[in-house]
Amino acid sequence: MSEKTIVVLGSANMDLVVSTERAPDMGETVTGRTFRTVPGGKGANQALAAARAGGTVRFLGAVGDDEFGHRIQRLLSADGVDVSGMTASNEPTGTAHITVDGGGGNSIIVVPGANGTVTTLTDEHRGVISSAATLLLQLELPLKLVTEASAFARWAGVRTVLTPAPVIPLPEALLDNVDLLVANEHEAAVLAGHPGTGSAIDEAEAMARTLAKRTKEVVVTLGDQGAMYASGAGAPVHVPAFEVDAVDTTAAGDTFVGVLAAGLAEDLPAEVALRRASAAAALAVKRFGASTSMPTRREIDKFLA
Ligand code: ADP
Repeated sequence: MSEKTIVVLGSANMDLVVSTERAPDMGETVTGRTFRTVPGGKGANQALAAARAGGTVRFLGAVGDDEFGHRIQRLLSADGVDVSGMTASNEPTGTAHITVDGGGGNSIIVVPGANGTVTTLTDEHRGVISSAATLLLQLELPLKLVTEASAFARWAGVRTVLTPAPVIPLPEALLDNVDLLVANEHEAAVLAGHPGTGSAIDEAEAMARTLAKRTKEVVVTLGDQGAMYASGAGAPVHVPAFEVDAVDTTAAGDTFVGVLAAGLAEDLPAEVALRRASAAAALAVKRFGASTSMPTRREIDKFLA
């Protein structure tokens, strides 16, 4: 394994996406328009985005020994992600049941399934993490495990990147172990407290400053308004978004994180890695879905040329 390896300890789900003119009320049946199954889960999304951007990626987590699980493993492997640390659980593969209505609104039920069985940091996990450069964590696996992994990574000198989603107030023990926190506006507001007034960009700057006191580096993402980067040294920097026709913003944040991690693992300066992440996320929002929308390294290079 190369010392530049990115390890993702996270979730893998199958997204079951129904589109319908109108979502049913409880007890009601409606006829939907379309149905698609799209591999997702924040862990798998970030792993795929990092691998497509050229990163050397290993995935740690679990899927069920079922059709969805096999399909997720094939997809990740096809893009070069090492899935030997993805165990087959007796529980079914995690699923996200997503209903999208005619107005573009959605409601989601997530059933963690196999993801919920990853409860302890094993010796295999420790071995893989300690030989990597970067560990990507999100909050779709049990919190105790995520906290334990962050502490181990700190001890082993591995850079930890946390996406605090789905957001909850974080235990100090976790936040203190994080090197780079990448949060969207909503997540940042929960963790930093809402600064209140001002433009989204001003608010993101205030939140990034607050959070940068806890972690070495922080990115607050702002959808089509870009992102705010802060590190202990110096004033926060705004990273503009690229202007594109947005079709589906699912996994914009995961694409951003995966590509940012790939850039940092190549030792690119932060501003260069952030620009590549922003370009990749813009490309991803131009296409439908999560795994289906993430660009390759060539596509990112071409977009930035
Ligand atoms: P999340 O998906 O976690 O909610 P954001 O919506 O903040 O995260 O998006 C993450 C990043 O994706 C943004 O910082 C930006 O670079 C890019 N992005 C998101 N939406 C758009 C958009 N409509 N146009 C261009 N870039 C976008």
